[in-house]
Amino acid sequence: MTGIVNEMAQGTPDIRRQNHLGAVGDGFGALTFTGDVMLKRLDEEVYRKLQQTMTQGQPLDRAIANKVASAMKEWALENGCSHFCHWFQPLTGSTAEKHDAFLVPDDEGRAIARFSGDELIRGEPDASSFPSGGIRDTYEARGYTAWDATSPAFILKTGDTATLCIPTAFVSWTGEALDKKTPLLRSIQAVSKQAMRILRIFGTHKGVSQVITTLGSEQEYFLIDRDFYLRRPDLQICGRTLVGAPPPKGQQLDDHYFGAIDERVMAFMSEVERRLYELGVPVKTRHNEVAPGQYEIAPVFENANVATDHQMLMMHALRASAGHHGLVCLLHEKPFAQINGSGKHNNWSLATDTGVNLLDPRDEAHTNMQFLVFLLAVVRAIDVHADLLRASIASAGNDYRLGANEAPPAIVSVYLGEMLNDILDQLERGKPKSTKKGGRLDLGAHTLPQIPRHSSDRNRTSPFAFTGNKFEYRAIGSSASIAWPNTVLNTIIAESLDHLATRIEAEMEGTASEQKLQEVVMEALKDVIHRHRRVVFDGDNYDPRWHEEARRRGLPNLKSTVDCLPTLSSQKAVKLFGKYGVLSERELRARVEVLWEQYSTILGIEARTLVSMVRKTVLPQALRYQVELARAVTSAQAAGVDFEDTWTQLQECVQMIEELRAGTAAVGQAESQPVATSERRAMHIRDALVPAMARARAASDALEAVIPEDLWTLPTYAQMLFQR
Ligand code: ADP
Ligand code: MG
Repeated sequence: MTGIVNEMAQGTPDIRRQNHLGAVGDGFGALTFTGDVMLKRLDEEVYRKLQQTMTQGQPLDRAIANKVASAMKEWALENGCSHFCHWFQPLTGSTAEKHDAFLVPDDEGRAIARFSGDELIRGEPDASSFPSGGIRDTYEARGYTAWDATSPAFILKTGDTATLCIPTAFVSWTGEALDKKTPLLRSIQAVSKQAMRILRIFGTHKGVSQVITTLGSEQEYFLIDRDFYLRRPDLQICGRTLVGAPPPKGQQLDDHYFGAIDERVMAFMSEVERRLYELGVPVKTRHNEVAPGQYEIAPVFENANVATDHQMLMMHALRASAGHHGLVCLLHEKPFAQINGSGKHNNWSLATDTGVNLLDPRDEAHTNMQFLVFLLAVVRAIDVHADLLRASIASAGNDYRLGANEAPPAIVSVYLGEMLNDILDQLERGKPKSTKKGGRLDLGAHTLPQIPRHSSDRNRTSPFAFTGNKFEYRAIGSSASIAWPNTVLNTIIAESLDHLATRIEAEMEGTASEQKLQEVVMEALKDVIHRHRRVVFDGDNYDPRWHEEARRRGLPNLKSTVDCLPTLSSQKAVKLFGKYGVLSERELRARVEVLWEQYSTILGIEARTLVSMVRKTVLPQALRYQVELARAVTSAQAAGVDFEDTWTQLQECVQMIEELRAGTAAVGQAESQPVATSERRAMHIRDALVPAMARARAASDALEAVIPEDLWTLPTYAQMLFQR
């Protein structure tokens, strides 16, 4: 086989070193138990064994665990920790921690600092209030946290208090997953197993012990002044504005995008970066985003498990640091109507543990059959399971964002670009003969250099785009954990790799002929192209004609969470997650039940907040305005001057108030209507509550547009977005 990549692509960071000190410089990750810290504090044998556990997932025996725990404790105490916690990711989508002091009484009643291997490896929080989707009842609520040695322990500083955090998985007494990490780890294993089969087919597996899922997740967020936030119950309770008239200027000028970062925001960003740097999160990029008040932060990629933990820490650092600068960081998918919402771009690839990116086509992509197998496995996976991938990012918050002209549409398609599409064309016809090159760009001014051009342009509208040597899934919501979407992504790709490996292995019938392998692989790839190319779309995903075309191609268009969730309990899904050992049927159903409940709960809270804001703030203000107008009419009348226009204004105000009352009543009614199951309740919410909330909001926004400034007490969009 020719053209197989066997060294590290230039510029690709060494993923094995990524979580270890030294990769970025001195002091990097000073608050993580990795690299130099470990090296200094563990004897050689313990260090080696722990490394094997961390990189190859080998079990750790008790004696070693005790030594690791003791070293961790010493390190933590020296860094000012008095407590440790098992840090985990329950199905709420947040992180959870229950702190315990290192101090225990000894036989003589003195307090000594202790942290044993048992305490490191296993915890038993009484975590009975976390959602379990019916897997456990509160009366039999035993749950365990289990140390995930593959993700470095870290010290989290909250003000002056430092706590040792041990990343853990959270499972029930029966061993069923109650968290987001456990299935993610299982899916990483599944995709590695199947990818290794492909490497074996091509003979490129030598020296490789596993295939690693790599992830880099760009995070968008808003910053607003804390004073405004404290005067907006909707932002405090729901994370998004439930009412608010659009300002005269939104993002039309695109002048915020990549603009100069102002001083207060820069100070905030620097603090976030410093905190993350200490925690070993390799932050690389910062910039202003499209909407006013919107920003982005992006790390260098890491292995998927660590990247997911680090993503949670990143959101934590953003939220926690904002307060020091009089700001609040909004991570909601759609904090403001009529301007862009926020998402996460999930950059995903597969690499060998020797550092070879399996989705790097290199210069001669057409000869790199192994690359084409991985690429087309992804294309096939997205086509076969577009519904599941779409469902993996469904949430109440993301419903407000997806499909607007800012985020990818709900139709999941793949962007490949000109070069790869050309290779697919060639493959369909026979043996591919060439790879399109980008050439050089002449910029027309002698003082500017000629720069090499990529072989295809970028596409900003595609939900799932090939971006040179990785795929970028762009539809994830900004507040979501990336664990679940990546669990689904890994699992569907494991299945496609399995499908291709099984076919190729069977057709090779144990022979090792290069010639035959070429033929067998080509036929398999042709078949994938023939059946699944319909999911490839390189055009403008915002164009309404694409929606029409996608329907013609038979691609699913699942518009809301309520449309999505049933696909996760389909027989297809149960079989898929079961087959690859990612989730049992019970675990999957439990998860879906939690998702249904979360959707309804979030919208219920939004509805009640809206009703309360209208009753306590908007309506009283509107009535005061009505009184003012009525007074103006009577005094004009008494003075004998023309009062016609003021009379009309009063009439309009009365009508708007009537509409506000009617809309709010409809919200209250829809919200309190009893509905039997969580699934039916969610449907009722989509069909009755969401439209009622939109109606009440429209009436409130119409009033906001006419009520005088001194009567309107809620901070306006213009204030929140532009005053910083
Ligand atoms: P943008 O798409 O905004 O131009 P970049 O191309 O700089 O951004 O990359 C975005 C993210 O992709 C970064 O977090 C980067 O580390 C990550 N990334 C780069 N290569 C890989 C890879 N092989 N696997 C996973 N993520 C990657
Ligand atoms: Mg990107």
